[in-house]
Amino acid sequence: MMATIFTALQDVQARIHAACTTASRNDNEVTLLAVSKTFPSQDIRTLYQHGQRAFGENYAQELASKQQELSDCTDLEWHFIGPLQSNKTRLVAENAAWVHTIDRFKIAERLAKQRPSDMPQLNICLQVNVSGEDSKSGVAPNELLDLAQQVSQLPELKIRGLMCIPEATDNASRLTTQFATLVKLKEQLNSQGFALDTLSMGMSADLELAIASGSTLVRIGSAIFGARTYPPGNTAP
Ligand SMILES: *Cc1c(COP(=O)(O)O)cnc(C)c1O
Repeated sequence: MMATIFTALQDVQARIHAACTTASRNDNEVTLLAVSKTFPSQDIRTLYQHGQRAFGENYAQELASKQQELSDCTDLEWHFIGPLQSNKTRLVAENAAWVHTIDRFKIAERLAKQRPSDMPQLNICLQVNVSGEDSKSGVAPNELLDLAQQVSQLPELKIRGLMCIPEATDNASRLTTQFATLVKLKEQLNSQGFALDTLSMGMSADLELAIASGSTLVRIGSAIFGARTYPPGNTAP
């Protein structure tokens, strides 16, 4: 029998449960964000009907279209997790509950201006470049405090935590070091008076390591929905 996305969701939930048990953490400390980019709204609806609530998208237009198609799913929570350009901020401000990829004040400022006044504060994670690779998005660790202080001045936004995409490697010790950097930066900000409660780290291949390191939100795409027919970073058709 072909595996359905619902059984794939259950498999991922079981992996999260096992990882939490190994790390002596409670399952309710880790949110599963189902990354649905490139997959149809019907797949999202199926998972929603089975109780999944948080969904992640990488493309602003795709998020807005799916939001409209699923507007009857009133407590479905949309997270924007892709690179965000200035000309796409309005779509995100009007449709998302969370944005995980803020690494420049200018983008945060636009989101704040464009957030409709009848919507709740937009939840924000600041993306940090924990691997130091030139090609990576994310604020440098030594510029994080400045960015956090600036973003915290915007009443339409609420800084909830930090997000990272570590180096693409199977090397567990390198990944663990990079996850630990994010953990330490969150503690430093909280010691400066911030109240961050979220560490957005871990994807299909490394969710166990991320949970062992202290992740509170794992972003899982291919382990639930299957392989994507175009890679992240490309434009949605
Ligand atoms: C696509 C994507 C994911 C999901 O990746 P998988 O390896 O398919 O689980 C997670 N985070 C971000 C930022 C992504 O772009």
